[in-house]
Amino acid sequence: MKVLERVEDAIEYAESMRRANLSIGLVPTMGALHRGHLSLVEQARRECDRVIVTIFVNPTQFGPGEDLSKYPKTLEADLEACRELGVDLVFCGRTEGEGAVYSEGFQTWVEVEKISKPLCGVYRPIHFRGVATVVTLLFEIFKPHRAYFGLKDFQQARLLERMALDLRMGIQVCLLPTVREDDGLAMSSRNRYLNPEERAEAVGLSRALHKARDAFEGGETSPEVLLNSFHEEVSKYPLLKVQYAEIRDAWTLEEVTEPVIHSLEQGVVLAASAFLGVTRLIDNVWLDPR
Ligand code: AMP
Repeated sequence: MKVLERVEDAIEYAESMRRANLSIGLVPTMGALHRGHLSLVEQARRECDRVIVTIFVNPTQFGPGEDLSKYPKTLEADLEACRELGVDLVFCGRTEGEGAVYSEGFQTWVEVEKISKPLCGVYRPIHFRGVATVVTLLFEIFKPHRAYFGLKDFQQARLLERMALDLRMGIQVCLLPTVREDDGLAMSSRNRYLNPEERAEAVGLSRALHKARDAFEGGETSPEVLLNSFHEEVSKYPLLKVQYAEIRDAWTLEEVTEPVIHSLEQGVVLAASAFLGVTRLIDNVWLDPR
């Protein structure tokens, strides 16, 4: 397994793979890898000749006061996990200096206008611009055939899918289901921030989402009733402070109202974010009528 840090070396590596007619699968991450990330790597391994994992804590997607400086770093363990799964290249991008991901004087941004606005976009106004821009850069560097993202970050997944489509990037965006802990908590690098009491209550977020999903599967179609069942469950966990919980069109992320819920082709998503102390978690359930 190769490990590279300089953008120029990464470009050269990917170019030689493409010249050899090998398909490239890209798995962008910010490291602190867990089984959620690894599920993407495994799928890429199954579908592509060469698998590239990027580990880059992208500064431009963090707002002031967010956790950029304390974002967990577990590089040795990450590299070991990648080695075990047969990854071909891990690109550990530099934030500054020679060969850095962002060139000096960088000032070009990719904005996905509508999808970036609601849900997390309300509370993290520059986040999705940073995500779209860094993923565009990684796409330019590696020119992968396929790129793998998790539906745990539902809004991000939809946004990147839209971006690849709009800019005719010719890259297949592959979205994979959320991997959860045994008790249902969606795996996240940020779960490491939780103390034992917070960890015990974190499960409330997925329980509440799944309670609403059960109601939906039982035939309930009113967004209001579904949200009530979410909030009723969440209120059993006093440490869990909901920031938002909304039901939206699962494709456009536009608002939905009662009569349309079952007629939408892609269904709807119930997406939520919540704080446990200073740690912010997000999760969602896709309510798909099919
Ligand atoms: P991150 O390192 O948090 O930027 O995540 C890198 C990729 O892994 C993104 O596409 C995430 O959506 C995906 N991911 C993170 N957590 C999970 C999870 N629990 N299940 C599936 N995919 C995940």
